[in-house]
Amino acid sequence: MAGISTAHFLKASGHEVEILEARDRLGGRIWTDREASYPIDLGAAWIHGNNQNPLIDLAEKFSVNTKVTDFEDSFVLDNSKSISKLKLYSAYKKFESYLNEGEQILEEANRNLSLRELLDIIYKKKDLSALEKKLFRLFERGLESENAAELDKASAIGYFSESETISGPDFLVYDGYDKILKGLLGNIKIHFKEVVKKIQYDKNAVNIYTENNSFQSELAVVTVPVFREAERINQL
Ligand SMILES: Cc1cc2nc3c(=O)[nH]c(=O)nc-3n(C[C@H](O)[C@H](O)[C@H](O)COP(=O)(O)OP(=O)(O)OC[C@H]3O[C@@H](n4cnc5c(N)ncnc54)[C@H](O)[C@@H]3O)c2cc1C
Repeated sequence: MAGISTAHFLKASGHEVEILEARDRLGGRIWTDREASYPIDLGAAWIHGNNQNPLIDLAEKFSVNTKVTDFEDSFVLDNSKSISKLKLYSAYKKFESYLNEGEQILEEANRNLSLRELLDIIYKKKDLSALEKKLFRLFERGLESENAAELDKASAIGYFSESETISGPDFLVYDGYDKILKGLLGNIKIHFKEVVKKIQYDKNAVNIYTENNSFQSELAVVTVPVFREAERINQL
């Protein structure tokens, strides 16, 4: 989404743009499955909040239907049995408060930790029930999807520097999130299966090296997810 929207707005302001994408499909953590007669979003599915949320404007611009739903009103099955909402909610609140204790631990460590390391330190001091252990693993998966990394690769400093949330209800992107992506992409050229390995700047151009090709441009905008991934690219 970050790459395609950047390309869209650069093109709208008169620049020539092309996108290099590592995968063989559009969207990254947005992935709409259209095998059935209705869209199923396997990645992002909701727009959270409508208070000056540009995604709401984009959905309107590309005539993408959305529907207000209560994002919190979900259920979890444990061996086909639904876990009560109260248990789910209180386990989540506990997980959140444990995680927040991590900020102090991080300060005392005086170095960055991965979220995995941090959680393991916190869990050692706690006595979790069997159900809480299972639910905590589920909540950890949520952290991974937010961070675009497994927890042993996601930076704890990155987690605590996250900031603003947009207020307002949750809108399910009823027509499928890929409709917004396709609207943004328009006729912008996208090169699939081009994993960027190296970016080199010289006085006149930016040289971008992928596994199999090289590209030259006046400027390059990198929109890969941050945290550890950004550290790795900087080292290249
Ligand atoms: C299961 C799941 C559910 C989610 N639900 C929601 C939701 O309901 N609402 C919500 O707001 N958010 C949700 N999110 C989060 C949301 O999907 C992401 O915040 C958003 O898609 C991030 O967009 P991005 O462009 O920053 O990163 P990404 O979508 O991760 O895109 C990064 C792109 O960079 C490409 N790339 C990486 N490295 C290279 C390289 N070296 N060379 C070339 N290309 C590269 C990747 O292939 C990818 O296409 C969810 C995420 C997941 C996984």
